[in-house]
Amino acid sequence: MFDLTRRIAMVTGGANGIGKGIVKTLAKAGATVMICDIDEEAGKKVAAEVSGEFHKLDVTDKNNAERVVQDILKKHERIDILAANTGIYPDVSIADMTEEDWDKIQSINLKGMFFTAKPVLEAMKKQNYGRVILTSSITGDITGYPGGSIYGATKAGILGFMRNVALEYAPYGVTVNAVQPGMIATETLKKELGVLSEKGAEAVPMKRLGDPEDIGTTVSFFASEEAKYITGQSLVIDGGQILPETPDV
Ligand code: NAD
Repeated sequence: MFDLTRRIAMVTGGANGIGKGIVKTLAKAGATVMICDIDEEAGKKVAAEVSGEFHKLDVTDKNNAERVVQDILKKHERIDILAANTGIYPDVSIADMTEEDWDKIQSINLKGMFFTAKPVLEAMKKQNYGRVILTSSITGDITGYPGGSIYGATKAGILGFMRNVALEYAPYGVTVNAVQPGMIATETLKKELGVLSEKGAEAVPMKRLGDPEDIGTTVSFFASEEAKYITGQSLVIDGGQILPETPDV
């Protein structure tokens, strides 16, 4: 396991699903974790489990994001790790999509990432140290599904954002990378896309959906000392789902 002792970590969307898996793995590696989420009830429960802190955060609210970051800095004096993981993925076809649908998904998945990352990056620049890990998806640049157009666009946007921000902050000891999960077993994946464990597993060479902790382990790696020379990169964690198999002809 990577050693994140004494590191202060902030995880957005940390109350459920993949975010909760990230929180648990960072805490297991020794980090003190701030769980930042709109879901107060679940977030407080996770915070209690890992002896972390819950901060109510709606990533679409710029002032809220700045306030949460300032609160954390006031108490802990630094933020070493940001895992910006918040995202929604409603299944909505182009034919049914309204401008409101487009704006809502975009503002949570992409603009919200900017609102959170900006004050954290500026604090990291002052400390001359930081690790930022953004949650994209294989849907960002490799796969897709009918009903995932705006979702895919935001996840591609995250990869572009990540590469450019990595360049901007590289001179200040801050690395910026992304994770691209395949199908990870969360309640939301089941609810929104109807992916059931047994059926979904058939599409994965490893014959199982991923666990939230599978993503957490990669986030811990990007957050570690060992990854200090890696920036502007993304890693697919999907049990082999995107690998094209040579046809048996
Ligand atoms: P989830 O619904 O379990 O978790 C999302 C979290 O974000 C929740 O805790 C929710 O309360 C929070 N959230 C929603 N809106 C918010 C807002 N405005 N402000 C703050 N918090 C808010 O979903 P998940 O399946 O764990 O997905 C998490 C991330 O991983 C998303 O970015 C998703 O796109 C990405 N992802 C998931 C999968 C998968 O298979 N589950 C695959 C690829 C990428």
